Amino acid sequence: MDCIFCKIVNGDLPSTKVLENDKVLVFQNINPEAPVHVLIIPKKHIASMNDVQEEDLALIGEMHRAAQEAAAQLGIAESGYRLINNCGPNGEQTVFHLHYHLMGGKRLGALTGISPSHT
Ligand code: AMP
Ligand code: ZN
Repeated sequence: MDCIFCKIVNGDLPSTKVLENDKVLVFQNINPEAPVHVLIIPKKHIASMNDVQEEDLALIGEMHRAAQEAAAQLGIAESGYRLINNCGPNGEQTVFHLHYHLMGGKRLGALTGISPSHT
């Protein structure tokens, strides 16, 4: 399968790992948009939030647990952070392997992608 995040899981593409267990991998975003910006992915290939099945619900919990642990490890648990999933064209999803962005290390401002002029 031609999926860059599966290749990262398999070790076919390099990544800077932050945290790993048998189900989930957390690694540095190659193009960070905040002082802390890591990606949390399931090792299992799931294309997007739309493709999460009943059998994956525990895995989604594991991703949240990994986000919590990564935030503590990266020193942003107390200062706070944002956990984001982009889904589909309007969500600006570019990599079709489920992931959360964990972002922090500065005040992130009002929620991005929502402007007063949106219709
Ligand atoms: P999204 O737009 O939500 O699909 O986000 C995809 C994210 O993956 C972007 O923030 C990219 O910077 C990041 N990304 C793409 N390729 C890599 C890679 N090889 N290693 C780490 N992060 C990557
Ligand atoms: Zn994949």
